[in-house]
Amino acid sequence: MATLDDHRLRQREYLLQISRAMTAQLDLVSVLSLVIRYAVDMTAGTSGLIALYEDEHGGELHIRASARLPREDWPAFVRLLTLTPAALATQGEVVLREVAADTGLPLRQMIALPLTLRDTPVGLIYVFRAALNVAFSADDRQVLQDFADQAAIAVSNARLYQSVLREKQRLDATIEHSADGVMIIDNRWRITTFNRTMEQLTGWSREEAVGRPCAEVLGIHNLQGVNICLNDCPLQRMPFTSNPVVEGQILNRDGREFYIQSRYAPQRGPQGQFLGALANVRDITLQKQEEELQNTFISVISHELKTPVSIIKGFAGTLRRDDAHFSVEQYRDGLHMIEEEADRLARLIQDLLDVSRLTAGGLRLEITEFALPSLVADVVRSFAPTVGAHYEFELRFPDEMPPVQGDYERCRQVVSNLVSNALKYSPEGGTIRIGGWPEGEFAVCYVNDQGIGIATEEQEAIFRRFYRVDNRLRRETQGSGLGLFLTRAIVEAHAGRIWVESQLGKGSRFVFTLPLGRHKLRD
Ligand code: ADP
Repeated sequence: MATLDDHRLRQREYLLQISRAMTAQLDLVSVLSLVIRYAVDMTAGTSGLIALYEDEHGGELHIRASARLPREDWPAFVRLLTLTPAALATQGEVVLREVAADTGLPLRQMIALPLTLRDTPVGLIYVFRAALNVAFSADDRQVLQDFADQAAIAVSNARLYQSVLREKQRLDATIEHSADGVMIIDNRWRITTFNRTMEQLTGWSREEAVGRPCAEVLGIHNLQGVNICLNDCPLQRMPFTSNPVVEGQILNRDGREFYIQSRYAPQRGPQGQFLGALANVRDITLQKQEEELQNTFISVISHELKTPVSIIKGFAGTLRRDDAHFSVEQYRDGLHMIEEEADRLARLIQDLLDVSRLTAGGLRLEITEFALPSLVADVVRSFAPTVGAHYEFELRFPDEMPPVQGDYERCRQVVSNLVSNALKYSPEGGTIRIGGWPEGEFAVCYVNDQGIGIATEEQEAIFRRFYRVDNRLRRETQGSGLGLFLTRAIVEAHAGRIWVESQLGKGSRFVFTLPLGRHKLRD
């Protein structure tokens, strides 16, 4: 009796060790090796093996672990593995003898049990004996069944672990490749996950960011320059809103500014304690610029439309008063003002139409070939009556200037805008020099003035929609900030380029290029 108790005790001890091994390590082969070693020991076997089906859905059996069977002999057992449980009962012994003959191993008896996981076969466990005289008993079968159950649990754990691992990898990849910045923080507001977009937005590498407080890495500022993350973090605010959102500016480490929106999905414990949060960070710089542009658009347009309308209304109202008598001269001046302001309105409306046409899908051009010097002379002539004596025009083109290719009216608009600006932004007067020359396949043309000039940092911005340099003249001269935007769009639609060379207080030189025509124009 004592030996039977010992036996049970040992079996229990082994099963305990196996389950410990299963919780301590998730490596399936190590656990299976332990199972088969103990199973052989407990059933007084000489050797044994565990074979598993290829995957969850069946397939061939493959040996995954063995006890006291050299690995190089595993292939000899394949013919045993191909036998179905029913065939094992009838042909098992014969095949076992063949395997023994091939390998020289003492294999005289065999016991094989299926490993099943929730009624699905996942493999087989085999134990072999060298002795012929002692047959496997029902007790042995029961012992082996217990070990088979342990092996099946190990397989189940390993598969679960594999699928969790796969799921985690999938999730990691989704986070990593998300177009939004994704950041996960722990209960002490320290970063634990930081994806690629976050690296691009902040300029911090993942290695540097992980472990640091999120306020240090992200540091969202409001328009007043206050660090919201440090002073007003919504995750620390009580009562707690479910999915707080913060919008503001961040400074990338390379000095670029981004306007971002950060949405937080916080995690709370049962007592409401903060466990951590996932932040979705989106770059909304373009949207913000677009919004700002819309606001500028409304203020510019309302101002620009209101001014001429009120001038027109004022003059018209005055001229039609019955109680006042005006001289012919006064009538003419008044009507002249009305006409000028109406022209200004018409130009502004035309510019707005052009801008909306541009946004809707580009300008349509009617291409012809024409002489640039005569176009310029034409523009200058149109300005002449309105220009004071303190301005002088100078045209400088070579005699043999080849024709350019383009939409005449649109090119006229380009020169006209540049000349109009040259006059507007040279309040002291001076020489407006316009000239050009052929260069390669393009005609280069410039408009020079001796006006107020443009600071280097403004020279790119002035071509943006509604952009006006903030100076005294901005308040004194009328303008919508659309002229240069349209001018550049027209030049670029002709495959040309436009830029400005200027120094504050010294004047500006706007230069643009237009493609040359292929024919020589007749006079
Ligand atoms: P607008 O003249 O209607 O304001 P533009 O788009 O034509 O709009 O010009 C944008 C801004 O560029 C102007 O507001 C002005 O500040 C600056 N600018 C344009 N041309 C000149 C120039 N020749 N000299 C100095 N500043 C200029």
